[in-house]
Amino acid sequence: MRALRLEAPGQMRIVEQAPPVGTADAPVQRVLSAALCRTDARMWQCGHRDLILPRVLGHELCVLGEDGHRYAVWPGVSCGRCPACHSGVENLCLGVEVLGFHRDGGMAQWVQVPRESLIPVPSEVPDVVACLAEPLACGINALNQARVEAGERVLIHGAGPVGLLLALAVQARGAEPLVCETAADKAALSARFRTLSGVVLTLEAPGDGWDVAINATSAPPALSAGLQRLRPGGRYVVFSGLRQEAEIDLGAAFNGIHYRQLQVVGAYGCTRSGIADAVALLGRYPDAAEALVEAVIPLEDSPLALRRVAEGGVLRFVVRPDGLG
Ligand SMILES: [Zn+2]
Ligand SMILES: [Zn+2]
Repeated sequence: MRALRLEAPGQMRIVEQAPPVGTADAPVQRVLSAALCRTDARMWQCGHRDLILPRVLGHELCVLGEDGHRYAVWPGVSCGRCPACHSGVENLCLGVEVLGFHRDGGMAQWVQVPRESLIPVPSEVPDVVACLAEPLACGINALNQARVEAGERVLIHGAGPVGLLLALAVQARGAEPLVCETAADKAALSARFRTLSGVVLTLEAPGDGWDVAINATSAPPALSAGLQRLRPGGRYVVFSGLRQEAEIDLGAAFNGIHYRQLQVVGAYGCTRSGIADAVALLGRYPDAAEALVEAVIPLEDSPLALRRVAEGGVLRFVVRPDGLG
């Protein structure tokens, strides 16, 4: 089969390799669609804490099961025995392995996925939208960590596809999102999405008094700005990791948390139930979600697309490993 394989940081290529071998619990599935995200781009540029090379990339994917049904994939493979697995937070399983990180992922014609990680996709969600369930589920996890409720005002820094999906999830639970973006050209990319979803974006400073603030960008100033704009007692979610050269005034940040009794939580990855919630949400907003797709491309074009993701200024490229026909 053909696959996009990362050999080493800076070195990726389309290869011909043997398809994975399935088991009864984890059969091999045909990949219908797989999205390229900034994490993939970062892996290509400089590796990743959890990346084992060489690796077929792809952790955002939709597959065709042996039963002829389509499934969104929870990309983790968890132990199923530890306290985290037993309490429904399998993303925190210490033994978790992730497709596209520890195991070969969806940028290939075939992928091996545990049956329990397959979440059915309803007919109203097209293939190219179903693979967005993973980033949306990560956003839903962030909202769950902050216990976001209807009527609350939620400030999101960063208008990339993940920040926009996050805003969609905020809106879907009856809360009020505002996406804050400093780059006008980046903001312009989401015009169609915003028209279809009703999500509001601002290029201006967003004012104070937010119930919840979330960073969907690795830029350190977003973290400080979000903390400062919370109401007393507000909640902050550290959703995006920070760029490694990040310099933050920790004294000011911690004093703000102390004096204004803020709550700060982290969020990383997603759970199976989060993928199911995400698929249901995509079924409510399939057109808005599809407006986050930059282009649908064949596997052969994925190295070039990943370079463009690394440069920034694009929405999600969705790869169809079997071609566009
Ligand atoms: Zn991703
Ligand atoms: Zn576990």
